[in-house]
Amino acid sequence: MEQKRRGVRLVLFPCPLQGHINPMLQLASILHSKGFSITIVHTCFNSPNSSNYPDFTFIPIPDGVSDDKSVLSDGITFLSFFNVNCAVPLRDCLIRLLSDATNIVAEAVAEHIPCLISDSLMHFTQGVADSLKLPRLVLQTSSVVSSLAFAAFPVLRQKGYLPISDSQLETPLTELPPLKVKDLPVFHTHDVDIMCQFMESFVNQVKASSGIIVNTFHHLEQPALAAHGKEFPIPVFTIGPFHKVFPASSSSLLTQDRSCIAWLDTQAPKSVIYVSFGSLASMDKAEFVEMAWGLANCNSPFLWVVRSDLVHGSKRIEPFWPDGFLEMISGKGCIVKWAPQQEVLAHPAVGGFWTHNGWNSTLESICEGVPMLCRPCFGDQKVNARYVSHVWRVGLQLENKLERGEIERSIRRLMFEKEGEEMRERVSS
Ligand code: UDP
Repeated sequence: MEQKRRGVRLVLFPCPLQGHINPMLQLASILHSKGFSITIVHTCFNSPNSSNYPDFTFIPIPDGVSDDKSVLSDGITFLSFFNVNCAVPLRDCLIRLLSDATNIVAEAVAEHIPCLISDSLMHFTQGVADSLKLPRLVLQTSSVVSSLAFAAFPVLRQKGYLPISDSQLETPLTELPPLKVKDLPVFHTHDVDIMCQFMESFVNQVKASSGIIVNTFHHLEQPALAAHGKEFPIPVFTIGPFHKVFPASSSSLLTQDRSCIAWLDTQAPKSVIYVSFGSLASMDKAEFVEMAWGLANCNSPFLWVVRSDLVHGSKRIEPFWPDGFLEMISGKGCIVKWAPQQEVLAHPAVGGFWTHNGWNSTLESICEGVPMLCRPCFGDQKVNARYVSHVWRVGLQLENKLERGEIERSIRRLMFEKEGEEMRERVSS
């Protein structure tokens, strides 16, 4: 039954990355189901597919991305670019929306806009909202534990842990147990000052907001919430996991290849290891080759998502397969460019997930009771992986240089041995 409309329109602004667009549109769907009208203001870069959301209004704003995409080369440069370039267009757009809302009120069809909801990484939106006296709520698409690590950057820098040096990688962080220095959520960037400045701005602007909506759930992150409340003394709403209410398939930027579901249907229960590094993480060619042979040599059938940009520096549409690999995996491996991940993880044939521990992937795996092999690449993935392996104990981490023998052994531990079985029991409970 259609929920009674409330006469309240919520304006949401996502960060233009797959792992951020998914939870923002899921949150929008949840709010719509509660009777709110929804406007999504978005960049032209990575714009969501509006045809999948006929009830929402979508407004693109100019973002300054040209054919030269070099500004989007590393994570911090990417985020800084949008934080600078979207400020004026977003403000203009909000002024128009607020004035339209006022005019409509005059015609007695009230649709009040009470606040802006924006991604925490789009920190410039606090200044824009303040300038219009519009309260701003933040959507945090990462874990509570990772936000504590981000907030600790200034102290950790003062103590000499940043930039990270090889000699300190294994040093335990007494401020953030059980994290070690190597688990700090840093991004690949050429300039650590710029990274720390970015972190400080985004944390400060979260603190300046009217409240934080976090895509997590209380039962999982409850112990960290007390510390979080001290660090961020504003209302926090842990109302996730969103994907259990609305799936991510409608907001997928890439077409999901559903042929892998038919392949999974032919496999034995809990026999398949699903392998995916999300939408951004990449590796060098040597690591890719080790990964390929590790999977070919292990005793589990596997479903592997190989994006065209999974190997960095490679512009090839088809990956560079090692000689003899495709022949060897025939019948045992299924390879796709992009999968319907939630459906894959919920499939009875899937017994393990080799993941980069993006927060959406981590939540999706936990919710389907699938234990993980963790190989984080950057940012909050590192914190999530440490918690998955050492606190929630629902996965094990590949911590060394990728090597086919270790990959094979780790998959065996996860899929066939007692410790993997215990993780499966814990994650299912
Ligand atoms: N995803 C997908 N198909 C794939 C791989 C990933 O639909 O083949 C989805 C996945 O379900 C998740 C999102 O893409 O919702 C990735 O977000 P995550 O936070 O895990 O990683 P990111 O891409 O941000 O690194």
